[in-house]
Amino acid sequence: MALIVQKYGGSSVGNLDRIHHVAEKVIKAKNEGHNIVVVVSAMYGETDRLIQLANALTQHHDPRELDVLISSGEQVSMALLSMALNAKNCPARSFTGPQIGIFTDSIHTKARILDVKTDIIERELNQGRIVVVAGFQGVNDRGDITTLGRGGSDTTAVAIAAALKADECQIYTDVDGVYTTDPHLIPEARLIPQISFEEMLEMSSLGAKVLQMRSVELASKHSMPIRVLSTFSDGAGTLVTFEDKIMHKRLVSGIAFSREEAIISLSGIPRQIGIEGRILSKVNQANIEIDMIAQNATTEDKSDFTFTVHRREYPKAMKVIEELSTELGKINVKTNSKVAKLSLVGIGMRSHTGVATTMFRILGEQGINIQMITTSEIKISVVVDETHLEKGVRAVHQGFELDKPFQSSDRSFIE
Ligand code: ASP
Ligand code: MG
Repeated sequence: MALIVQKYGGSSVGNLDRIHHVAEKVIKAKNEGHNIVVVVSAMYGETDRLIQLANALTQHHDPRELDVLISSGEQVSMALLSMALNAKNCPARSFTGPQIGIFTDSIHTKARILDVKTDIIERELNQGRIVVVAGFQGVNDRGDITTLGRGGSDTTAVAIAAALKADECQIYTDVDGVYTTDPHLIPEARLIPQISFEEMLEMSSLGAKVLQMRSVELASKHSMPIRVLSTFSDGAGTLVTFEDKIMHKRLVSGIAFSREEAIISLSGIPRQIGIEGRILSKVNQANIEIDMIAQNATTEDKSDFTFTVHRREYPKAMKVIEELSTELGKINVKTNSKVAKLSLVGIGMRSHTGVATTMFRILGEQGINIQMITTSEIKISVVVDETHLEKGVRAVHQGFELDKPFQSSDRSFIE
């Protein structure tokens, strides 16, 4: 008998028919002889609706109250699913995060899980019941309800699976797994059968929204493989697991991209020790997250400093830069708020050189100008004009043969 944690996302519980469908799936898994814990998200659109309500009421809401409000969506889904199960003669009970004992820190709307109690879940499972838990929420040491950030039900599921030492953590969603790139943009994108935690982290941080990034971090830390599957169709989905368990190793596993970037380039910065730290701390103080950074000396006493931010932060960042330029004297500022980032991700790069060369050649052949480059051990990111993004993704996807079906011989590709 296996212990399986299943998580169903907002679209999977989006209406009563779908909740019935989820109940059938849960019952099927139980009838196969398994113990099942189910984590649910709020019904599709509900969390957004609740946030809008709060914003319409006042722009200055207390984050504590916001968490009380937005955690309610999951409470609705958990009760409905539990009722649906009971109506089908499958004993079930639902619990909120605080009821189960999901303890978090006190950072409202972005809380981190510190501890997960298992006694209530184990008691219920021992009595033959399905345990349905509200995702996305916990409780701090003062007894206040907290939430885990958008998409946080994934993290609830992984945390519970890790605490219970479950055999599997299945994340059911409306896509059938993780793709080589976004199939909405590139219909030839392929389902990736297995991907490493590290690659998945890069893909999530780069905007592939299938899993909340924190859930992947947690899974990797606790050695808890995750399987991403579709609620609506059959198939093995994508297994996110350890590198050495992966059969289909490719040089490049996937292409992630984000459209909403802006690039800010400062030139003529005086070359003083610590100047980069001064610039960045100003930007950080304004709560702006910087993504890519490049710096190089242009003359004996001047250097260029270029960075990217999310487009929504661009006006705020420009204000900071204006203040800075009065402080630093005459600097030149060049910006482009209509750029996109395209990233190649793959553990195969670690042992193989030449991936960047191939990528840049492909983009060059398409007449795409690269405005900035950063690399890590398993990732190469470039900034390009927004209008070139689609063409670039398509060309690179084809160039690295990501449109070809996965075969077991892919292993030899990088060994
Ligand atoms: N309902 C929350 C959200 O929409 C959490 C989740 O779905 O994972 O972000
Ligand atoms: Mg999600």
